[in-house]
Amino acid sequence: MDVNNLPESTNVSEVGRGSGYAPRGGGIRVGAVGTILAVVVGLFLGVNPLQILGLLSGMGSFSPGTQTSNTSGPVNTKDPNNVFVSRILGSTEQTWSGIFKQLGRTYQPPQLILFHDAVDSACGQASASSGPFYCSGDEHVYLDTSFFAELSQRFGAGGDFANAYVIAHEVGHHVQNQLGISDQVMQAAQQGSDMKGANGLSVRQELQADCFAGIWGSTAQEAAHITQKDVQDAVHAAEVIGDDHIQKSARGYVNPDSFTHGSSAQRVKWFMQGFNSGDINKCDTFNTKSLN
Ligand SMILES: [Zn+2]
Repeated sequence: MDVNNLPESTNVSEVGRGSGYAPRGGGIRVGAVGTILAVVVGLFLGVNPLQILGLLSGMGSFSPGTQTSNTSGPVNTKDPNNVFVSRILGSTEQTWSGIFKQLGRTYQPPQLILFHDAVDSACGQASASSGPFYCSGDEHVYLDTSFFAELSQRFGAGGDFANAYVIAHEVGHHVQNQLGISDQVMQAAQQGSDMKGANGLSVRQELQADCFAGIWGSTAQEAAHITQKDVQDAVHAAEVIGDDHIQKSARGYVNPDSFTHGSSAQRVKWFMQGFNSGDINKCDTFNTKSLN
């Protein structure tokens, strides 16, 4: 993979080490299920479970935000990770602007906040151990790039395209937000639809974000010189962060009732479905009987 032909986004900012970020806009609900899961699995895991469970999720481990005097600034372009993130985000902007145009809509890209150690979002305060996340309350993607090293060292899932997939997945949640899907999910949940479980709305929402990440990969394939090996890296990342894999390595058995992101096989399937088709209509995880 070569990101040098991808356009840099102007929607990335960085908050300094040890400082958070005071978001605009109001707060939204803290993901109670995610927090409980993180605590429960934390009892079983030797490694940092919050990071795994917060991974690719809007439901990280948040404490109520403390409104500190945080300011964001321009990105340190000397850090190659930051430039990488900026180019991947810029590429997702191209992808989704084009697709939204076809739908007769205008894509409003998210802001991406690079942070170190801790950050305040409209979803509460998060630490680096929360992993990357999207907060629909302020429409920002939050990322501590030290996570890339974790992904590679702890989970053996490195590679540029694997890292890009993580960003594209979070952007996928923003696309869901823009398309009104996130609101529909929240409404359905309030009306009693199941959020949890192997067929719950949460898994469907996550798998759709994987499919959307695949769509980005598909449209960026040529410009970014994405190879078969790159795709394998992303698939491997999708595998190791599937719920069943995490649960199995955590406690030796799998309990589909507590799935929030989907199984490894499902995550790979939906990512590849987006990647191979490049078609948003192929990502309707909500009206699919079997997610497998
Ligand atoms: Zn997610």
